[in-house]
Amino acid sequence: MKFRAVYKILSAFIFYPEKLCVDSPNITIGPFVFISKKHNDKIELEEHGLVHVKQFYRTFGFVYILYLSKNSRFKLDIEAYKRQLEVKIPGNNNPSLKKYLAGRYGEVLANKYKIGLNKKTIRNILLGKFWVH
Ligand SMILES: [Zn+2]
Repeated sequence: MKFRAVYKILSAFIFYPEKLCVDSPNITIGPFVFISKKHNDKIELEEHGLVHVKQFYRTFGFVYILYLSKNSRFKLDIEAYKRQLEVKIPGNNNPSLKKYLAGRYGEVLANKYKIGLNKKTIRNILLGKFWVH
């Protein structure tokens, strides 16, 4: 387990269990980020989780009410995936790899949320080309 600070003074607790009870390499619950042990070297997953911890703190824990709406959940996850992408490929380093990776994340999100946005649209959202309301 390790600690990370969010908003300078609030704590996030990161655990690396052998297995998770979900079909995902990571999950965040409140200030607790769980990353399966085999992905413990993936700093981008940790940063993804920290975005969700920030969302938890900045809503005083009411983020889970937002989770009742698929669209809200999608927007919260977009924020986390944008951070994940930025950590993996910072700035304009290797734009073609960034575009490819955004496409992969876009596919994951399109299949996960099924809110009528295709992989390409979500990829463009992740690349900051436009935002959804
Ligand atoms: Zn997420």
